[in-house]
Amino acid sequence: MRLDQSIIAGLADLGEVPAFLKDIVRAGVVSTVDTAMIIDDSDYVAVEQGKPLAGGTAAPFGPIEERIERIQATIAAEGFANGNFHGLVREFGGLLFGMIASAEQQAQVASWHANGTASFGGFLMSDGGGPSIQDWNTAFISDGDMLTLHVDKVWIIEGHRLDYGSVASASTQRLYPSSILVPPEEFAKLEKAPVGAPFLDGSLQLGNVSGKVTVSKSCLLSGGGLAATSVFLSKARPRFVRALMAHVGWLDRTGRIVLSSQQRDSAVALEAIAKTFYHALVERKPSLQMALAIKFASNRLLLDLVASGAAAEPAVARDLMAFTRMEGSSYRCLFEIYSKVKVR
Ligand SMILES: Cc1cc2nc3c(=O)[nH]c(=O)nc-3n(C[C@H](O)[C@H](O)[C@H](O)COP(=O)(O)OP(=O)(O)OC[C@H]3O[C@@H](n4cnc5c(N)ncnc54)[C@H](O)[C@@H]3O)c2cc1C
Repeated sequence: MRLDQSIIAGLADLGEVPAFLKDIVRAGVVSTVDTAMIIDDSDYVAVEQGKPLAGGTAAPFGPIEERIERIQATIAAEGFANGNFHGLVREFGGLLFGMIASAEQQAQVASWHANGTASFGGFLMSDGGGPSIQDWNTAFISDGDMLTLHVDKVWIIEGHRLDYGSVASASTQRLYPSSILVPPEEFAKLEKAPVGAPFLDGSLQLGNVSGKVTVSKSCLLSGGGLAATSVFLSKARPRFVRALMAHVGWLDRTGRIVLSSQQRDSAVALEAIAKTFYHALVERKPSLQMALAIKFASNRLLLDLVASGAAAEPAVARDLMAFTRMEGSSYRCLFEIYSKVKVR
């Protein structure tokens, strides 16, 4: 099976994939594969949904997931305007934090919010040193019970006005990142600056965060390993894609973009596929490659809206392109799918 067929077969497992969406996934694979993938010319298995959970382990939606469902309904009516984007991202943050923080760490953060010490927290992953952890500028060293952390993080949602954050950091001991909770009094010592023009009609600003802080070892978010991140991403990505497709529907209805019927049908179909996938996670194990396939298809559709001129307003086109990078660029998604579904 070819790589594009593997992705399309996975999507088709969850709902109807219109011919147009198949075409842009195919064209997307052709334009995104790297040299190694072309030379390798492997065979692939279908990207599939996770396996059924063992009996009795069904996981109904928790309070955060229920709140996300309500935000999804609001986004369908109002798009990402009126603070809906930030509301969704805040709930994603809560979902992730619940997976990587201990009960004490969660109580500590809740107390900062309750006593007014902090209002905004962020997840700081993208690094000024580049995408590979070997090149990261953000790294910590242990000194007794304390950690000294050099921070150089970029492109963080509202990074210039965060009060505290979970900082992904390299270290000499580990090949994968560690997450460190930087509390408000230390976070205040970091330099913060807005970066680039805002998105979403001026309502979404990214910021860079840098400097040096010292925190207690108890600030290490010990649940923040690769497994928790994978489960989080398989839950967050399809929810984000559903919201993106709803936002596209709102842009269409309000005349900010002009879609062909094929583009419109594909956005509706992908919204349904994304919803079906994450609702099925109640009974099935999360499948990271399925979430990657859904995000890849979403990226390709958003890029098609820009390339075809459907989004004539430059600021709207820029927003749509930016959302193809957040929570997984096309290359990142394809590379990970390739690594996981290759027949060895
Ligand atoms: C609106 C928005 C909000 C964001 N919010 C946050 C946030 O809150 N926190 C945060 O940490 N980050 C945030 N980011 C950053 C985002 O999450 C990504 O880190 C960033 O867009 C880079 O994605 P990527 O690593 O997938 O890189 P890519 O852009 O895909 O590139 C990674 C590397 O892969 C290689 N590569 C890329 N394409 C190819 C190709 N075709 N062939 C071969 N090699 C290739 C290159 O070496 C490149 O440097 C945000 C970004 C946006 C636009």
